[in-house]
Amino acid sequence: MTTTTNSITQTTPKQTTQMQTTDLLVIGGGTAGFGAALTGARLGLSVTLLEASSKIGGVMAACPGMPWGAAYPCDTMIGGLMGELADRLFAMTPPAAEKRACTLENFGAEIQYDHDIATTTMFEMLEEAGVDLRLGAVATTPDMHDTRIASVAYFDRHGAQTITPKMVIDCSGDGDISAKAGVPYELGDASGNMMGVTLTFMMVGADVDKVFADPDPYFTRQAAIGIAEGRLHPDLSQLYLMRGFHPNTVFCNSVVIRGVDGTNPTDVTRATQEGRRRCLQMAAFLRTDIPGFETARMMNLGPTVGVRETRKLEGMYRVTGADLAAHRKFPDGIVACDNPIDDVMRTDASMTHDAIVSDGGYYTIPFRALVPQKIENLMFAGRIISADPTAFASVRGMPQCIAMGQATATAAVLALRADVRVQDVPHNDLITALQAQGVKGLGQDPLA
Ligand SMILES: Cc1cc2nc3c(=O)[nH]c(=O)nc-3n(C[C@H](O)[C@H](O)[C@H](O)COP(=O)(O)OP(=O)(O)OC[C@H]3O[C@@H](n4cnc5c(N)ncnc54)[C@H](O)[C@@H]3O)c2cc1C
Repeated sequence: MTTTTNSITQTTPKQTTQMQTTDLLVIGGGTAGFGAALTGARLGLSVTLLEASSKIGGVMAACPGMPWGAAYPCDTMIGGLMGELADRLFAMTPPAAEKRACTLENFGAEIQYDHDIATTTMFEMLEEAGVDLRLGAVATTPDMHDTRIASVAYFDRHGAQTITPKMVIDCSGDGDISAKAGVPYELGDASGNMMGVTLTFMMVGADVDKVFADPDPYFTRQAAIGIAEGRLHPDLSQLYLMRGFHPNTVFCNSVVIRGVDGTNPTDVTRATQEGRRRCLQMAAFLRTDIPGFETARMMNLGPTVGVRETRKLEGMYRVTGADLAAHRKFPDGIVACDNPIDDVMRTDASMTHDAIVSDGGYYTIPFRALVPQKIENLMFAGRIISADPTAFASVRGMPQCIAMGQATATAAVLALRADVRVQDVPHNDLITALQAQGVKGLGQDPLA
């Protein structure tokens, strides 16, 4: 028997179907999806945001306490939504965020923040803008009509659902929907090697001045002893620790698990379990071997590993390491960046933080790296950007991901208004619109 309640049709006790439409469908509520959904709604579109997990933030939610890096190329805030979010947190009493120098070589200033206040603020901003947020909703399959996505199938606890969007922005980090829609991609580098994944945690109750009295930001001498004595995993030769936002807290971004395919849930589960073991081992090591941690304890262990890299989709343009090294400022550049090559354990246990821009310079990320070649109503934003492995290692910071989301949603509005394909959005109009939203360093408006 079929019963209908509030336009939801109950077909079986376990399955529900509902005809849904939206102007803009954003898939994934990480930093890129936050930027896309918020911008689309503020610019007047009806926006549905599907997020598979129960939180906003994506990797930011998986790694509570991870700073927003690269928000200040040339020591100037990139502006736009990143600037607005930071300003909201800076202005709270007491402040819920702070700009700080990064302790690692070649990184500019970063923003440390209270994780719970930041994510709550992001929820509030989406709510204020009228975004239809669906947590626990996993997009599964696009229905293609020639070169357009006609609808997207997803499921939530009610069962299978279908939504018909005018425009889709894939902010899922992994690009499942774009890949199924036929967008070519590379998984990791040319050999298929992806950066290691990381399980993070916080140490609270530490004497941070004592901890950071050691000038080596990686604590390599102490780590070598722990490894030699079998008390640390051999991949922990560099202990990457940083002062947390709150007093007496230290954020530990060190436990990297290699050889994990972040698109494979079995791999991610295995890595998370292994990560938990290594994090507990490392916390015990910190207490016994690093002065200042004697009475500290572990908190905020990530719910799952943070995945750095999976698919990189093929766009109208592929950003390259050579572009970055040349400080290229593209006519369709949508955000400035000066992050170093932050490459983490692709094949072996090595990490690099080599500078890509010299002399305090910066480059911009072109809009075309977020636009597929053929599909007319799809864009992608965040870590699935079209980039070679070197460029990817630099462009992937959270502030830039927010800005990529902001740019693609602005382009969606321009495309819908003019009834043109996303490939034909006039770049000048896009840059002018982003500048009007406070994004700095674009077009004829250099950062410094
Ligand atoms: C360990 C680690 C440390 C890092 N350190 C820093 C740092 O210090 N500073 C910095 O700025 N950046 C850092 N980064 C990089 C940065 O965090 C990421 O590049 C960025 O957060 C990626 O954002 P995103 O929105 O593109 O993707 P993600 O954050 O991966 O978000 C994707 C979202 O989409 C959802 N999703 C996926 N598939 C579906 C689907 N089919 N349907 C619905 N939802 C779906 C996921 O649940 C997730 O919420 C780090 C990354 C890692 C992993």
